[in-house]
Amino acid sequence: MKQFYMPTKLFDGKKIIEEKKQLLLAYGRRALIVTGSQSSKINGSLGDVEDALKALNIDYGIFDQVEENPSIENVIEGAKAYKEAEFVIGIGGGSPLDAAKAIAVLLKNPHEPEEKILFETPNAKALPVIAVPTTAGTGSEVTPYSILTVHKDQTKRNFKCRVFPEIAFLDVSYFLTMSIHVRVHTCIDALTHLVESYLNTNATEYSDGIVEAGLTLWAKGFPKIQAENIDETHMQYFIAASTFAGMAISQTGTSLPHGMGYFLTYHHGLSHGHANGILTSSYLRLYQDQDKVNRLLRCLGIHSIEAFEKEVDVLLPALNLRDDQMLMYAEQMMLNQAKLKNYPFEVTKDELFMMYKGKSSQAESNR
Ligand code: NAP
Ligand code: FE
Repeated sequence: MKQFYMPTKLFDGKKIIEEKKQLLLAYGRRALIVTGSQSSKINGSLGDVEDALKALNIDYGIFDQVEENPSIENVIEGAKAYKEAEFVIGIGGGSPLDAAKAIAVLLKNPHEPEEKILFETPNAKALPVIAVPTTAGTGSEVTPYSILTVHKDQTKRNFKCRVFPEIAFLDVSYFLTMSIHVRVHTCIDALTHLVESYLNTNATEYSDGIVEAGLTLWAKGFPKIQAENIDETHMQYFIAASTFAGMAISQTGTSLPHGMGYFLTYHHGLSHGHANGILTSSYLRLYQDQDKVNRLLRCLGIHSIEAFEKEVDVLLPALNLRDDQMLMYAEQMMLNQAKLKNYPFEVTKDELFMMYKGKSSQAESNR
């Protein structure tokens, strides 16, 4: 059986929140805004949401302390900010959007132990979530996932339930303030979603069609990925690519690079996109169906894995890992059944070790 499910209503356009604000009335009279500490204040997204809520006479509280790669402790704190909220508005990159989903679960289930409701309750309900993304990276505005840092396990985990945002509001103006560094790393995260959805056990012609369209859009944005000031047209290509990527991983999940990248974020502080990105060319090499890999590269307008390394991989500095670290991460990854099952072939610990080694050996040879 094949299925495709993406219930989020998506609106994309400049001043879209102002234009469509009436839709918010369907979700209640009290909202909690969940955002990071800085960027949404600068790029206008927070101001636009507040203006809309004021115009609609919706009371609101703000939790603006979402950390990058939010932890359970961070979302528990956020859920205390406005306990009477009837819906939650996440504004920012994947971190605030994911935090908004987790907070929406906690607010809906105030009497349940937090870790149990987040990580052990597949059918947990949530308050409605509205998503206002400001990075063209995670696609969280159209995925049901929330990735949280779990300090006791020294890694990151997806929560157990599924929370698709009710509405995603995309306004290109909010994305133009990203630093080159944040833009490169987040756009590469979107690319890794496209790659890992396409090269995935659960891929179907429905998800593949979305991925192929996403790869083509991504390639159109790519010449300006490092531009000092990216123009709206190129940013818009990345926004659409990232949202398509989100729709695709909502169907298939991600695969080995995401599971393996979590250790690089947790233990070495790599951004999420950087961590997955440096494992991507190794994944392309490992993948046994090279015909499909070649189809993927053709959508990007790239003719070989070597060319991919020269053009895309080169944007991400290598990380110099010790053998014992790579071995430990490979061993832990062998326990991550959720990600392993998305890889359609047998994989060994040695192969995972070699995936880490691929880029790490570049770091050694560059020294
Ligand atoms: P992020 O952690 O949300 O944000 C990274 C940095 O970018 C923060 O310093 C943030 O500042 C800043 N920033 C965000 N938007 C900006 C803008 N428009 N202009 C200037 N700076 C901006 O980064 P992300 O890569 O988007 O999200 C990563 C998280 O998403 C990870 O936890 C990852 O695991 C998760 N993820 C989720 C999914 C999913 O399907 N749910 C998929 C992939 C990844 P402020 O803190 O000040 O806002
Ligand atoms: Fe990701």
